[in-house]
Amino acid sequence: MYPPECGGCKRAGYRWCPACQDRIQALPDPVCEVCGLPGSHPGLCSACANLQPPFRALRSWVVFEEPIRSALHQLKYRRNLALGDALAKPLAEYARSLMWPIDVVGPVPLGKKRMRERGYNQVALVALPLAARTGWQYAPRGLHRVRETRSQVGLSAGERKENMQAAFHADRSRVQGHTVLLMDDVATTGATLSACAGALLEAGAEAVYALTLARALPHHGLTQV
Ligand SMILES: [Zn+2]
Ligand SMILES: [Zn+2]
Repeated sequence: MYPPECGGCKRAGYRWCPACQDRIQALPDPVCEVCGLPGSHPGLCSACANLQPPFRALRSWVVFEEPIRSALHQLKYRRNLALGDALAKPLAEYARSLMWPIDVVGPVPLGKKRMRERGYNQVALVALPLAARTGWQYAPRGLHRVRETRSQVGLSAGERKENMQAAFHADRSRVQGHTVLLMDDVATTGATLSACAGALLEAGAEAVYALTLARALPHHGLTQV
């Protein structure tokens, strides 16, 4: 057994240390009411005003910068269960503060191939303890990734959406009538979460809210994480 070390800065004796907790950055206000992207004015951003995404709202706990970047890397490649539990604590507090009427929680699913390679879904490492802390029902099997998302390069906006949408399928018997909290580690444009939310609504979910640990902002130059 190794002594614990902080998932953000490797400091010994912690899973997630107070210094890292102090260093995280909330998203700068104001954010779009729906997609959660920081903008220059409150209300809806122009993209959401033009076409509302299928989820009611998307929010992220912090900006995708250090030390959360290292912590998410640990979850993804090291199966650090203790870190997932440590991060679930402040994330659950944040989630409760949003006052969303959630009854079930589930992670964005991995495809079969990815699941075989990695052996676990890194988002589940946080979603499960978060469900335990909030009292929301953990329902990881309501949504499936039916195929890996193909490269989006060279596709039109409409083709991208179709490509994404066809990647997910929701199980009516598990989601019908529920208000679902969909969780992911990082969001950029929200395209994956939109595709998942679309599949959940198609299968009869009452409403879908989306929560990520981190948000990659456009100035990071990332189009997809
Ligand atoms: Zn630390
Ligand atoms: Zn928006």
